[in-house]
Amino acid sequence: MTRPEQRAFELREQLERYAYAYYVLDAPEVPDAEYDRLFGELEAIEREHPELLAPDSPTQRVGGAPREGFVQVTHKVPMLSLGNAFTDEDIVAFDRRCRETLDVASVEYATEPKFDGLAISLHYENGYFVQGATRGDGFTGEDVTANLRTVGNIPLRLRGKDLPSVLEVRGEVLMLRRDFNALNERQLAAGEKLFVNPRNAAAGSLRQLDPRMTAKRPLRFFAYSLAQVDGVPMPATHSESLAMLATWGFSVTDLRAVVRGADGLLGYYREVGERRALLPFDIDGVVYKVNALAQQAELGFVSRAPRFAVAHKYPAQEEMTELLDIEVQVGRTGAITPVARLKPVFVGGVTVTNATLHNEDEVRRKDLRIGDTVIVRRAGDVIPEVVAPVLERRSADVRTFVMPTQCPVCGSHIVREEGEAVARCSGGLVCGAQRKAAIIHFAGRRMMDIDGLGERYIESLVDFGYVNRIADLYSLKLEDLLEMKRRADERDGITPETVQQGKIATKWAENIIDAISASKHPPLARLLFALGIRHVGESTGKTLADWLGSLEFVRRAPRAVFAVLPDIGGVVAESLYEFFIEPNNERVLDELVRAGVSASDEHAPSAKLAQRIALPELLASLGIAKLTATRAQQLAAQVKSLTALADLTPIERAALDLPAEVSTSLAEWLSHEQNIAQIKALDRYCATLLAAAPSQDSDAALPLTDKTFVLTGTLPTLSRDEATALIEAAGGKVSGSVSKKTHYVVAGAEAGSKLEKAQQLGITVLDEEGLRTLLTQGG
Ligand code: NAD
Repeated sequence: MTRPEQRAFELREQLERYAYAYYVLDAPEVPDAEYDRLFGELEAIEREHPELLAPDSPTQRVGGAPREGFVQVTHKVPMLSLGNAFTDEDIVAFDRRCRETLDVASVEYATEPKFDGLAISLHYENGYFVQGATRGDGFTGEDVTANLRTVGNIPLRLRGKDLPSVLEVRGEVLMLRRDFNALNERQLAAGEKLFVNPRNAAAGSLRQLDPRMTAKRPLRFFAYSLAQVDGVPMPATHSESLAMLATWGFSVTDLRAVVRGADGLLGYYREVGERRALLPFDIDGVVYKVNALAQQAELGFVSRAPRFAVAHKYPAQEEMTELLDIEVQVGRTGAITPVARLKPVFVGGVTVTNATLHNEDEVRRKDLRIGDTVIVRRAGDVIPEVVAPVLERRSADVRTFVMPTQCPVCGSHIVREEGEAVARCSGGLVCGAQRKAAIIHFAGRRMMDIDGLGERYIESLVDFGYVNRIADLYSLKLEDLLEMKRRADERDGITPETVQQGKIATKWAENIIDAISASKHPPLARLLFALGIRHVGESTGKTLADWLGSLEFVRRAPRAVFAVLPDIGGVVAESLYEFFIEPNNERVLDELVRAGVSASDEHAPSAKLAQRIALPELLASLGIAKLTATRAQQLAAQVKSLTALADLTPIERAALDLPAEVSTSLAEWLSHEQNIAQIKALDRYCATLLAAAPSQDSDAALPLTDKTFVLTGTLPTLSRDEATALIEAAGGKVSGSVSKKTHYVVAGAEAGSKLEKAQQLGITVLDEEGLRTLLTQGG
């Protein structure tokens, strides 16, 4: 075999395989751009060596064979393909050929977008839709009438009065981009296969053996030509025939035009090209057709395409490139996102070098491996996407992506919660990627409430290196703030000149220093909220503060203790635990304590804890399989403590009175060293906690037990949260409205209707002073 012969043979084989996957299976293996390149290469070889041209070459044929299971339809007028053009020169040559063959000075063309869907033929008799078919190999297609009936904008009956007795319309079935995106989201949620692009989704949806499946897919039809019409006069031009189709009720694109000469064609190409990204559907080019039907007939056909028309292609929206690596990025809130590093590729009008892969599952679902050849899609102005690997080009040395266990920015451990797609860095307070967001949250009004320290200044403090960790806020000096502000203003192009402004700046900095210092002792609930622990807001902070009393007890608490507190579910308990065991976070808490930060309302753990952390409750919260609440009670009745359980010998353990499956699962659980260590530590922690808590009886002796308070107006020194915390710590309750059941109303400046109501009802009204006395002496 000669070299060109050999290459032509390879190309034919390859193109046939791709065409089969594309036309018959609706599952393309490579992007169209790659197919078109190989197709072009084969055409060139066949042009230079006409002796190699075979009638069964892909360059001589249309589409693919009909799929099995469909009834076949013979097209009376064949459904052909279109010749492709890629450059301005190709178009100038096309126009010259038309002029020369027709022997005219200039030619009028009808121009249209080239829809990226699949070709369909619709047959009407006496105004009724009777049959619809796919293109198939151009001569025989698949009968998809039932499926086409489900496409909303295909008229089942033509509109108007003078209807043709027979009408055959050609057009494209497609899926709008937004419908495609929504469909893929549904497929994703249902765990089904994703479609590569809207064309593929439209073809797959239309060529279903069950029309009910098609009915669920939002498809559209656009008519682009009239193949046969009987009973009404045939129009003289293509553009008139489109207008006629529109009056019969077909959707015909508004983007069509009539132009003259090569300049007119190229002008249309550019105009539509500029609008391409904004169109609601994909187009892969524009189509030029000689407008006069008589001239079309004169020009005729070559083997697989008309001579009177050509498709002028736009740059591809899908290309192939190499997946060089998958790295992870850390977002502002700690989300860890795998990102594809790509060999630069020009696609959809830009050079793409990275694309987000969203999360670990997405990488698995798409079966992407590092080193793969991949298909990259950028359609419209949507961010580029890695669609799929090209499996036939996968080499043996590709690597599987493994999600790192440690954050690439700060080294803290990465946590992925059960049922969550996103993995996160657990070191929010130290992580360079999250630092700014963490400090902004920390300083926020409902957290540490550092007045005047807004986002812009926090970002500049971090950018210029004055603050790296939250504790650094507490060692900021006046000069640091002034210098930071000067540098930030300079960077942002703001120029403060006068002495007056200097004075204002000093005052501003003093205020911030004061605000930082005033923020050092918030209620514990807010301090916990300020740490930015995932799922922990003010109300969880309050539960923790109420029950455990101090930062020290909160930060040392084992997971099982979090889990037995009211309103704290498994996910929150897990998140608290993961936060406090991260050494980086421990360091931050130590730094804060060293900087003098402490809660204003620390108190002994709640006296009611004894019930919450009783042995059966703790046992049930360990997450041992089969150990239900009832079984935990049964077990608790037989062992004295967690430590006693840990120290049982296997023989003693086997002698416990428990159902066999509970016994087995317990034995399995206890066979792990770390579980033994865990329950011993839990036991020790609970003992310390209980020793610190007042005994249950003394709870009744709290000064304000069972007393209900209502707060109104502004108190001279206590904020509303602080007053509430103090009252609650003394056993009292705070309510929002005054009623007969209210014991005390604490009123400050500008007290409103609540004060009036209290006076009407004869309820004792206190000022801050009075409240403080009551707190120490009791009600
Ligand atoms: P084509 O898509 O290049 O052109 C003909 C088709 O254009 C018609 O059948 C019709 O469906 C469509 N069309 C859209 N708008 C039109 C309009 N306004 N007027 C007339 N026709 C319009 O031809 P083709 O023969 O279907 O196939 C070639 C295309 O399919 C190429 O782009 C090729 O890349 C792609 N393909 C890709 C693979 C792959 O593996 N990725 C395999 C085979 C073919």
